[in-house]
Amino acid sequence: MSVLSITKCLTGQHKPVRRDVVWDGERFAGECRNCGKSIKRVSTGQWRKSVNVR
Ligand SMILES: [Zn+2]
Repeated sequence: MSVLSITKCLTGQHKPVRRDVVWDGERFAGECRNCGKSIKRVSTGQWRKSVNVR
């Protein structure tokens, strides 16, 4: 965890822990490697907090 990484999280640029990424039947879902929040992929390379993704 670094200040730079957290800054990215605050601007919505989360990065998943790749080995923990799973397909939930609709989207790829995982945990952010920087802030630890539950996130989902909205498009290639674009991850959002689960609560912000339908
Ligand atoms: Zn994050």
